[in-house]
Amino acid sequence: MHRFLILNWKLNPATYKKAQQLLRDTARACLRRQAAKKIKQTTVVACPPFQYLCSFIYHQSSVISHQSSVISYQFLQFGAQDCFWESNGSYTGEVSPLSLHQAGIRYVILGHSERTRAYGETDEMIGKKIIAALQAGLRPIVCVGEDKHTHIRGKRASMLFVTKQLHNRLYQCSKFSNVMLAHIIVVYEPSWAISTVSGNVSDDPADAAAMIGYIKDQVSHMGLSSIHEVLYGGSVHAGNIEQLAAYTIIDGFLVGHASLYPREIQTMIAVCEKV
Ligand code: PEP
Repeated sequence: MHRFLILNWKLNPATYKKAQQLLRDTARACLRRQAAKKIKQTTVVACPPFQYLCSFIYHQSSVISHQSSVISYQFLQFGAQDCFWESNGSYTGEVSPLSLHQAGIRYVILGHSERTRAYGETDEMIGKKIIAALQAGLRPIVCVGEDKHTHIRGKRASMLFVTKQLHNRLYQCSKFSNVMLAHIIVVYEPSWAISTVSGNVSDDPADAAAMIGYIKDQVSHMGLSSIHEVLYGGSVHAGNIEQLAAYTIIDGFLVGHASLYPREIQTMIAVCEKV
């Protein structure tokens, strides 16, 4: 089955040199797989910080020489970690979805809990970003998921929390055609399961799969059944991806911390290719 492996570097690594190395190592991890057996069913999307993304994107069409090795990036897609809802104007520091698309970027993560928690990003703002991203030709990777406080209150509370986020963030999308809606990717990423919060312990695979089934039902009830790709995020790594991938309802993974380690990436791709 086809799966996404979205690599969210967050604000890492600290220097451009290290970022170039990580990109090369990530490309090599894809290539190694390619040498053994083509990557057929996994779309690997690297999401570096903006300052590196732009430089990478301008070099990816060809090959980049480094020391004696020449690495091709043809097996990697690129994504941004956020974008604004306007494409131009007096918005200091914001990044236009149109300019991302024009640069060759095809994916953008929106609604990540680190942005809602730390910078007060609201559902309304996320909804506007999703619409602008779609209109610009980007595939929005929309994060939803309950916080720790809600998780402790039980499954019903978590389901209500996620339902509210889906409605508030996606309700304006019903104006789009089914073809456009199919570009939206949803990620169930409970913020309590993110490695920095949970100590690298993911949600229970059966619970994650059940919530993903619930999300698919909810988007369908909202008249958005063309959104059919729902991924899981939160402490996914080489050591637990196999248990999660056993649930075919999970259409892929959003990976934070483990995306900084090429060996982890190699194993995660191998697992996605197996199932
Ligand atoms: C994330 O924050 O998007 C994420 C998936 O992080 P981690 O894998 O480190 O839990």
